[in-house]
Amino acid sequence: MCLTIPAQIVSVDGNTATISKNGDYNKIDTTLIQDPKPGDWILYISDFAINKISEEDAKEIIDLLQDYGNINTETLSGKFLEVIKSSQTSLLAKEDIIYLLNTEGVEKEALLAEGNIIRKTFLKDFYCIHGIIEFSNYCTNDCLYCGLRKENKNLQRYRMSPDEIVNIAVNAVQEKGYKLLVLQSGEDFYYSDETLVNIIKQIKQRCRVFIFISIGERGHNTYKKLKEAGASGVLFRFETANPVLFKKLHPNGKNFEDRFNHLNIFKELGYFIATGSLIGLPDQTLEDIANDILVTKKYANMVSTGPFIPSTDTPLADYKPPSVDLVLKVIAITRLVMRNARIPVTTALETLDPVNGRMLGLKCGANSLMFNLTPPHYRQLYKLYDNKFYQDESTWEKYGLFKLDSSYKMLEEKMLNVLEDKEYEE
Ligand code: SAH
Ligand code: SF4
Repeated sequence: MCLTIPAQIVSVDGNTATISKNGDYNKIDTTLIQDPKPGDWILYISDFAINKISEEDAKEIIDLLQDYGNINTETLSGKFLEVIKSSQTSLLAKEDIIYLLNTEGVEKEALLAEGNIIRKTFLKDFYCIHGIIEFSNYCTNDCLYCGLRKENKNLQRYRMSPDEIVNIAVNAVQEKGYKLLVLQSGEDFYYSDETLVNIIKQIKQRCRVFIFISIGERGHNTYKKLKEAGASGVLFRFETANPVLFKKLHPNGKNFEDRFNHLNIFKELGYFIATGSLIGLPDQTLEDIANDILVTKKYANMVSTGPFIPSTDTPLADYKPPSVDLVLKVIAITRLVMRNARIPVTTALETLDPVNGRMLGLKCGANSLMFNLTPPHYRQLYKLYDNKFYQDESTWEKYGLFKLDSSYKMLEEKMLNVLEDKEYEE
């Protein structure tokens, strides 16, 4: 699904309407909507009006997706302007990323605004909405940060049956218009390769949807079978590109080399890769974060980077999460180095700032959202960290565009473009 900024009809001439958006005027085709009139608010895409919406909802979406005001560039330092300028023609160096991570005040605001401008320039005002189904909270791993780690004996565990998973997925596609779903779980070998293959095949037989899997490390053979069954992408973070920090966070279990071997396997098998890191881990430095941004750029077709949030019943329960500002700066810098990529506002950012997190993330370079489709009685048990953000998304779902089947084709083309994308001569 996709959401765009609404526009208002100024005048109508046959099947053509003139619309106004942010002071610009455009002509669009109105054959797909009924009875367009001056003053009506609409959502449109590629010169076609898709949907009429109420003024109240239009204002709500505009508020959520509003831009930064103008920044007074006279107060920005020469160094800042030089770094931003160089980001427009070449990949930022690690030192420049560290410089940007340290910005404060007006330069921080300018950085976030630049992330937004790049997003607008390269991706226009389209915001993609994907869904996630968290189908099991059993895990054989013991990542120190995660509430699902096997050593957490205080967590009530659940597993969805294959039929339940398939039905939730098919319903999300057919009833709500989702086109991309992530199936996520702890590393749970209860689901054999054959079971996972059948789940994917059944979903693909019953509806047109891109399936991303996020099930941890299962080796080349499993991922090959799942790809053949119809999975298109993986959501798999490398967590941190610092091997020493990685080892500290995974004293038993996950291994640094295996993590990256998996990313190489995904590349080789032709998966669309959503990857990234955790921001604000204990002992993580800004240099680590800068490296993580560059490693994300190397592997990711879609970004998956978000803040670490402490989770009770884990060894890191007493640590502090990072500031919202740091997370926003990482999003903006990631947008500077990955101009065409999908960059989601993560649930973890929305958890850090439940009131403004989504709006702030979308205002500094992010262009997609992941909505939780896990049924409520399981959702509260999928406790990667405390107070995981959730809200009823029906307003957003209501206005998600691309509900038509033809939109699947559009998404497919976009994904292929991204897979083939080479942004800079490297
Ligand atoms: N088990 C799979 C997928 C589920 S975990 C895997 O590990 O790949 C999905 C993601 O949740 C992890 O990659 C991790 O980055 C994130 N996560 C776990 N604990 C977290 C925490 N305390 N704060 C923020 N994100 C966390
Ligand atoms: Fe398991 Fe993934 Fe959590 Fe690690 S991050 S404990 S692998 S669910």
